[in-house]
Amino acid sequence: MGAYADLHRRSITDRESFWAEEAQRIHWHRPFDQVLDYSRPPFAKWFVGGQTNLCYNAVDRHLATRGDQPALVYISTETDTEKSYTYNELHDAVNVMASVIAAQGVGRGDRVLLYMPMIPEAVFAMLACARLGAVHSVVFGGFAAASCAARIDDAKPKLMITADAGLRGGKAIHYKPLVDEAVRLAKHPPRHVLVVNRGIDKEWQPVPGRDLLYTALAGNHAGAQVPVTWLESSEPSYILYTSGTTGKPKGVQRDTGGYAVALAGSMQHIYDGRPGETMFTTSDVGWVVGHSYIVYGPLIHGMTTILYEGLPIRPDAGIWWKIVADHKVNVMFSSPTAARVLKKQDPAYLKKYDLSSLRHLFLAGEPLDEPTHRWLHDAVGKPVIDHYWQTETGWPILSLAPGIEPAQVKYGSPGFPVYGYDLKLLREADATEAGPNEKGVLTIAPPLPPGCMTTVWGDDARFVETYFRTFPDQLLYATFDWGVRDADGYTFILGRTDDVINVAGHRIGTREIEEAVQAHANIAEVAVVGVADAVKGQMPLAFAVVRDAAKVATEAGRVAQEQEILATVDRQLGGIARPKRVLFVTLLPKTRSGKLLRRSLQALAEGRDPGDLTTIEDPAALEQIRNALLT
Ligand code: ATP
Ligand code: MG
Repeated sequence: MGAYADLHRRSITDRESFWAEEAQRIHWHRPFDQVLDYSRPPFAKWFVGGQTNLCYNAVDRHLATRGDQPALVYISTETDTEKSYTYNELHDAVNVMASVIAAQGVGRGDRVLLYMPMIPEAVFAMLACARLGAVHSVVFGGFAAASCAARIDDAKPKLMITADAGLRGGKAIHYKPLVDEAVRLAKHPPRHVLVVNRGIDKEWQPVPGRDLLYTALAGNHAGAQVPVTWLESSEPSYILYTSGTTGKPKGVQRDTGGYAVALAGSMQHIYDGRPGETMFTTSDVGWVVGHSYIVYGPLIHGMTTILYEGLPIRPDAGIWWKIVADHKVNVMFSSPTAARVLKKQDPAYLKKYDLSSLRHLFLAGEPLDEPTHRWLHDAVGKPVIDHYWQTETGWPILSLAPGIEPAQVKYGSPGFPVYGYDLKLLREADATEAGPNEKGVLTIAPPLPPGCMTTVWGDDARFVETYFRTFPDQLLYATFDWGVRDADGYTFILGRTDDVINVAGHRIGTREIEEAVQAHANIAEVAVVGVADAVKGQMPLAFAVVRDAAKVATEAGRVAQEQEILATVDRQLGGIARPKRVLFVTLLPKTRSGKLLRRSLQALAEGRDPGDLTTIEDPAALEQIRNALLT
């Protein structure tokens, strides 16, 4: 048995001793008495009796050995700024922020809602909350006022922290007026709003008695030292709402000790990062990837983390690779959407920079199609590791673990179940285990490992009802994703369970059809949705973005490309999966986190209302879809 398979087996059969060992990676103010309390399934409490603190583990613990090492490097191509903070400097900045926050009466268990651009103060604020035992909830700075208000009402924060503005592609995004509107809409508005003034929006007006100016207060609190509030391991560290791709967002509640342990282990086993090295995660602090692998993970592991404010293609498509070369990045983490954006750019950008420091490039967030995986692997010349996880889990569910065993990448697959996860691929009909190459629903037999959500914020019943009721006779956590395992044990994600379409009685995942369409050389990106069909029940419909637009510039060209693509699908999957039509667009409707708005796409294709679009990246995509449907 390989080293990894062995580790995984031990993490399941010897759960408590495995995690007791892993727990030694972090600092405990008081040691735990019990590794796991699972007396109330499916609620799991990890490291019972232990006391710790995320901020202490991410910052204070390193001061003695790496106080002068860079902890945070802020790079903004929006403001042309680069600023590095050593662990000592980070410690000072976090203490000032913590002192300012505490002065507003915020303490243990109080919620603080952050609506922030990618600036160092966002990281300071998260760590400061953790230091105080306050529960942060970062709302992605791109959500509309109504979405922000809904999160305010759910989290009921005492304080909100924002900035005057963010920047995107050189354009100012006015955060402060949006927060004003969100607070106005909310039924449980915070008492105060702390504003970090970047000086981008010169017009914003403070609300007297409510708004506080961070820069002014920080001066008053200069040099402050705020003691760490030690929390019980299972006390909440933060609330993070899911992306809302499939409906009403759920407030994922994370614990403290389990999360710190899970992240610390993953930094070594999965990301293969070493203390003192540099990690560059291209996500946003508003998403789970940002929480775990921009802020907490790398810092807990004593690494330098890069906080990048800007686009992947500005000033040009080489910017990320320039950052890797300039900062000798060892571990990089990005998304399939970003990979597809770069794939459309001149490949010369990838050759321009020295990427020799880079060990692995990790991608997650949505399906990584095989051609893009292969392309990126060749272009970067380093293993590109697709890995799969959810806001709910906080760290990977499926991955390779190059920190344990060299990565044997299989294109299109996020690899194997991660240690700690008792993953089951089950037949939907009777919850029995699917065989090799047979589709099944991905489920996790509880207890969920450390780091995973402990409940839905304020709603234990919703936690159980939402995640543990897919199969009536067994208590299993449903990922709502559909997968298949090959004979070598590699798992492939076939899409979300509600993305399966039924063509004349055949159940086909939209992901499978997308993968088949992608096999055509001229396809950059594709989305397949099921549309109602009088004869077959449902039929797949494909929206494709081509690499060479000249080929679809004329009607004759479009017809020829469509025929070629349909023939490709026929070859790969058979005629049953053949899309009714292939419509060509240059943009697909996506959320700001790069996820396809599949429900909206399907609604438009069926002539229905596209629904909630507050998180859409570029509304122009909808116009294109509407127009394409008219042809
Ligand atoms: P909501 O749950 O609110 O509808 P969401 O599921 O989009 O939103 P996230 O938790 O950010 O919110 O996304 C997790 C989902 O993203 C997974 O369940 C899966 O569908 C998809 N995903 C993540 N990583 C991968 C991957 N490597 N391959 C395929 N799909 C992935
Ligand atoms: Mg989800």
